[in-house]
Amino acid sequence: MPPIFNKPSVEKYDYVVIGGGSGGSGTSRRAASYGKKVAVVEMTNALGGTCVNVGCVPKKIMWHAADLREKIMYHAPGYKFQDLPSAPKFDWASFKPQRDAYIKRLNGIYHNNFDKEGVEFHQGWARLTSTSSVEVTPPDGKPKYTLNADNICIATGGYPTIPSEEEIPGASLGITSDGFFELREQPKRVAVAGAGYIAVELAGVFNALGSETHMVIRGETVLRTFDHTLQETLTPWMEKSGVKIHKKSKVTKVEGVKGQPLTLTLDSGDKLEVDCLLWAIGRHSATKDMGLEKLGVELDKQGNIVVDEYQNSSVKGITAIGDVQGKALLTPVAIAAGRRLANRLFGPEKFKDDKLSYENIPTVVFSHPTIGTVGLTESEARKKYGDDAVKIYKSSFRPLYFSMVSEEHKEPSVHKLVCVGPEERVVGVHIIGAGSDEIMQGFGVAVKMKARKQDLDDTVAIHPTSAEELVTLR
Ligand code: FAD
Ligand code: NDP
Repeated sequence: MPPIFNKPSVEKYDYVVIGGGSGGSGTSRRAASYGKKVAVVEMTNALGGTCVNVGCVPKKIMWHAADLREKIMYHAPGYKFQDLPSAPKFDWASFKPQRDAYIKRLNGIYHNNFDKEGVEFHQGWARLTSTSSVEVTPPDGKPKYTLNADNICIATGGYPTIPSEEEIPGASLGITSDGFFELREQPKRVAVAGAGYIAVELAGVFNALGSETHMVIRGETVLRTFDHTLQETLTPWMEKSGVKIHKKSKVTKVEGVKGQPLTLTLDSGDKLEVDCLLWAIGRHSATKDMGLEKLGVELDKQGNIVVDEYQNSSVKGITAIGDVQGKALLTPVAIAAGRRLANRLFGPEKFKDDKLSYENIPTVVFSHPTIGTVGLTESEARKKYGDDAVKIYKSSFRPLYFSMVSEEHKEPSVHKLVCVGPEERVVGVHIIGAGSDEIMQGFGVAVKMKARKQDLDDTVAIHPTSAEELVTLR
């Protein structure tokens, strides 16, 4: 196992990075590749941050499990597979340690990569004591020490938000996405409060794996910031698939004992009895108690570090990347911003202005079925360019795969292009349906390259696929 440092190895580093998640790893390794002396301070020894430990990776593994169960239960009979169980039981209790072991391997790979690149891994809690010094408090009562550098990057990510006891009595009886990954058994009945990425993805997993699943949402649809076509397609399909969505509702009280059945009271007065309540109502940045305010590092009202387009904070020499700056909370964004920042600070002349463009970032929701989206929603485009300038192309279809599947289990697929101006530049692509997660990346490239509708029309379709719908829209 590579070493974990517990004291400085030099008087002054070129770069000290706080946080060993997606952004911190990306920026530190890139800086070290330029021969710079780099230290990463990370409070846990599970390198990889949210994405690896309690985010993208274990979530996608759970999504695959859920997807498989749906295929076995609902799709395989149509393909005349015999002797299938009518409700295959998912063995959560034995799957969890297997999933955890894989994550542990990834933690080791992150550690080895640091070692290979010459990045020092200091385990401990970091806070800034001046604009060029970071105090490290290692675990297990080992003595504190200070790392000095003229360039300090904050990549501390964030935490799931949970309502206070004053706001919602009993709120702390619920878990968050972090707690989801700690569950040793599958809850029989679960309520998910929230309507964003995490709520949709985790409610989808619970439901597909056979838990009685409730969602408590404030609006009429899930994913309210997404294109309305996606909201209006996914919400009824989730309901049809068995998720009980309590619309225009809020949890007002939670009663019970942790680990035992809970009674939720909704603002309608309705009561819900569940074995697990999961809050998925957003995240907040990890900026507390790090000495930032004292040094004049500007934070916004939510506690995110305010940065300019080059990731500079309001204090010279202190930069911030990833979730902690509150924009586009996605792993590839944190990595890309981190690498470009290191290019700009330490790379060759050609990178002296390198920065990440936060425009047209493609993203996927691992719902059932999946969603892919890039660029402006229809309503954003209408607002920005005016109704007359916007042309929408849309197709609702059944992928060939579902031709052999019973009517009630044929998942919806909708592909939509938002185009503007006489040249019909594609400013938004919004798709839902099986395979959308894999289809989206290439169309992200097209939008980034400012493709016109004609460019898509001029691309020969790949048949038979769902993706071909996007190049044959009329
Ligand atoms: P993090 O990865 O959170 O890393 C921050 C690190 O800083 C942590 O390891 C933390 O321990 C450490 N730290 C914090 N404070 C200190 C301190 N004071 N001293 C020392 N160390 C400190 N994104 C996707 O692109 N695709 C997905 O499918 C996806 N799924 C997700 C699913 C879930 C359930 C969640 C919660 C998130 C998901 N995300 C996904 C988002 C993605 O995980 C984050 O955008 C990404 O991890 C952010 O990286 P980061 O480096 O900014 O922060
Ligand atoms: P989101 O911002 O996606 O969604 C939170 C939702 O919670 C809001 O849309 C809001 O919906 C609802 N909400 C907010 N406050 C309250 C409240 N007080 N009571 C009830 N509902 C509330 O946050 P998530 O926590 O789901 O995810 C955080 C981020 O992590 C995402 O934005 C995404 O960037 C990233 N992520 C990415 C994934 C991926 O790439 N596949 C997967 C998971 C996370 P409404 O306004 O409709 O009520």
